[in-house]
Amino acid sequence: MILKWLERFFPFKVNNYVIDELIDWDNFSKDPIFRLTFPQKGMLSKNHYDRMAKLIKEEAPKHEIVKAANQIRMDLNPNPAGQAHNVPELNGEKLVGAQHKYKETMLFFPTQGQTCHAYCTFCFRWPQFTGIDELKFAMKQVDLVIEYLRANPQITDLLITGGDPMVMKTKVFKAYIDAILEADIPNLKTIRIGSKTLAYWPYRYTHDNDAQQLLDVFKKIADNGLNLSIMAHFNHINEMGTEAVAEAVKNIRETGAAIRTQSPLLKHLNDDADMWANMWRKQVDMGMIPYYMFMARETGAQEYFGLTLEEAWNIFRDAYSQVSGICRTVRGPVMSANPGKVQVLGITEINGEKVFILNFIQARNTDWVGKPFFAKYDPKALWLDDLKPAFADKFMYEE
Ligand SMILES: *Cc1c(COP(=O)(O)O)cnc(C)c1O
Ligand code: SF4
Repeated sequence: MILKWLERFFPFKVNNYVIDELIDWDNFSKDPIFRLTFPQKGMLSKNHYDRMAKLIKEEAPKHEIVKAANQIRMDLNPNPAGQAHNVPELNGEKLVGAQHKYKETMLFFPTQGQTCHAYCTFCFRWPQFTGIDELKFAMKQVDLVIEYLRANPQITDLLITGGDPMVMKTKVFKAYIDAILEADIPNLKTIRIGSKTLAYWPYRYTHDNDAQQLLDVFKKIADNGLNLSIMAHFNHINEMGTEAVAEAVKNIRETGAAIRTQSPLLKHLNDDADMWANMWRKQVDMGMIPYYMFMARETGAQEYFGLTLEEAWNIFRDAYSQVSGICRTVRGPVMSANPGKVQVLGITEINGEKVFILNFIQARNTDWVGKPFFAKYDPKALWLDDLKPAFADKFMYEE
């Protein structure tokens, strides 16, 4: 019953691989992959929960329930950190379905890649799955992407993302890639693909009937002199133990592609430094490169999943200090915020004042990158917006 209500707010989808191979059903209520894919009661605030419970108890008409559900969704801040605001323009026209925020990287959201094999309960992209149409980013015209890449020679990376672009049939994906490769754009050096398939559906690279063709497309990218990097989302080491995932990683690596890994740090799911250290080690053992540990975004069920900046920094430091330099390619904890990707470097005391030391790894304005800056220590802060500048009136990005 609870699950049925929760589905009204949080899109729900799971598959047989996740159910059969990843979740420990003997201990499901504590199982991290269960919590990752099955909405949890704690994800709704008490207010929202009570409001919905009342409507359902009163057997309110369906349209009223739907209306309340949509309002609650809007309260959950479906487009955090100006997601909708980085839409590039070409000849005065907006390229809906693309984003260009950081100088050298353009994001592309192909229409057919805006869903996933299973849905993560923490996901900030959920407006793309809930049927609020005007929030969908999508576009079909790869031609416009190519034209934009040509017109912006500072762009070296095209990041194809979603949802999960690897839900696409190979035929569809290949059409996009062939168009990009044929265009032979001199500034384009790297294609990245953001995907959760290694965790949720590794068969995409092993048993699917178009798996080999997909690997052939990957190989073609390398043969054309471009880097291919799979940006793989692994939230927990329990997603990395099956034979299927080992075989999938091996098959991808054999095409010449690199695999980089990233995940948010989430309460109830992976707030455990030893698990992170083991996960990074295992990723390296399997041939992957640890890349980002993110803070939970200020959206959806942040109250349920969010950790404070201080807690996150402690977990990161504890995990990072346990592993060899080969695993320390990872950066964290990082907030992917409106002005840029901000890393919490640490907490320290300067002239008797306790402060956070922060650093832009990526920024809208490249001048901000790599210049440590300070915020007043706040043990409750969850996100950049909660912080006040230290030793200054404003943060540099507020000028
Ligand atoms: C994270 C991100 C990128 C890529 O940043 P890297 O640090 O190069 O991995 C590009 N665009 C947006 C909008 C991003 O959030
Ligand atoms: S796979 Fe990625 S986009 Fe899809 S639900 Fe999970 S976090 Fe969201």
